[in-house]
Amino acid sequence: MSNTLIQDMPLKQGKRQRLDKPELLAPAGSLEKLKFAVHYGADAVYIGGQKYGLRSNADNFSFEEMREGVLFAEKYGAKVFVATNIYAHQEDLDGVADYLRELENAGIAAIIAADPAIVEMAQQVAPKLEVHLSTQQSTMNWQAVQFWKEEGLPRVVLARETTMEEIREIKARVDVEIEVFIHGAMCSSVSGRCVLSNHFTDRDSNRGGCCQSCRWKYDLHADEQSVMEPGHNPFTMGSKDLCMIQHIPDLIEAGVDSFKIEGRMKSIHYVASVVNVYRQAIDAYMADPEGYRLRPEWVEDIGKAANRPLNTGFFYAVPGAEEHIYEEEEKPAPYDFAAIVTDYDEATGFATVQQRSPFRPGMEIEFFGPGGRQSFQTIVEMTDMEGNPLAVARHPLQKVRIKTEKPVEPLDLMRKKL
Ligand code: SF4
Repeated sequence: MSNTLIQDMPLKQGKRQRLDKPELLAPAGSLEKLKFAVHYGADAVYIGGQKYGLRSNADNFSFEEMREGVLFAEKYGAKVFVATNIYAHQEDLDGVADYLRELENAGIAAIIAADPAIVEMAQQVAPKLEVHLSTQQSTMNWQAVQFWKEEGLPRVVLARETTMEEIREIKARVDVEIEVFIHGAMCSSVSGRCVLSNHFTDRDSNRGGCCQSCRWKYDLHADEQSVMEPGHNPFTMGSKDLCMIQHIPDLIEAGVDSFKIEGRMKSIHYVASVVNVYRQAIDAYMADPEGYRLRPEWVEDIGKAANRPLNTGFFYAVPGAEEHIYEEEEKPAPYDFAAIVTDYDEATGFATVQQRSPFRPGMEIEFFGPGGRQSFQTIVEMTDMEGNPLAVARHPLQKVRIKTEKPVEPLDLMRKKL
């Protein structure tokens, strides 16, 4: 590693002139999610391989799936990154070099790494792979960013705990790409500095095993006495989720290069919905910064895919007591993912859809697609693939035909109002 002393660099004056569009970076826990994330507007996706990532419970990618994902993404001009952000114990390093070479051969654009051993190994054995510093390194100041730049890293993923003011200063002082989380779950400890899961379940958070122990329901006891009021609900240690849809101009003007959405374990409905909204907001701002207005349907659409309370994390202030979830506050989302459109017949106005949760005639549904296309209707006519009327689509992956009020397209999604 470099021993270069970091000099006090001059702060550039004035608001940063931004000419290039920031990247929208989406999670992809499976090949199917990758395709939906890209189709709905992600410029890049991050995935996990079979090893060395922090989501050991996700449907992680084989090398063959990675190659297929890269080819699919390339058709849209999008990139694929692989999270290799464990903190490695000595035994974990066996085989890392071969793994990195395989990633390079599969056409992966970058790895997201935290452990300096993996950073250095990637630079040595797979020089075509960009190395992005993971948020697991908890980088929050420009001197640390400068250090990693001098180590040859083109991008630093800042800690979720970094403030907007700190981001502005980092971008003003160091010419390196900055990626920040703009949406999704937060850790209730400093990200990557938590071993709750290790202690409670013997699953190592820093080797991909976190089981979100902070969100479990707990009773409080002191000296073997419950200190909870009668009738009081068990409390959790979870934080509200992050959502920055109301602050896109701030993020772009601060110079953030990559807007990252958390959630490799989330559904394709969640990923497509959230990517779709941020894609529209970023494009709208870049097309007309002065005329940009937050559209209420963006906020509403995010609410259709999420069921946890949202806040702005650490961007504007250190979260106080009110930003913590003491009691279980999850409410069912107002909509549920129902189906994927696989075909549409313009002549008859019937869409063929693949079922993802049961639906029946009489239900209020919404079709939506990339770019904010959406239409609302009640299911009136529904048949099986032979044209026989259907009372309910109850079987997972069952294909059925629905008469739509407006045209839809393959890969549009259908959700049902609850
Ligand atoms: S248990 Fe909670 S706070 Fe700890 S690493 Fe997991 S998500 Fe983060």
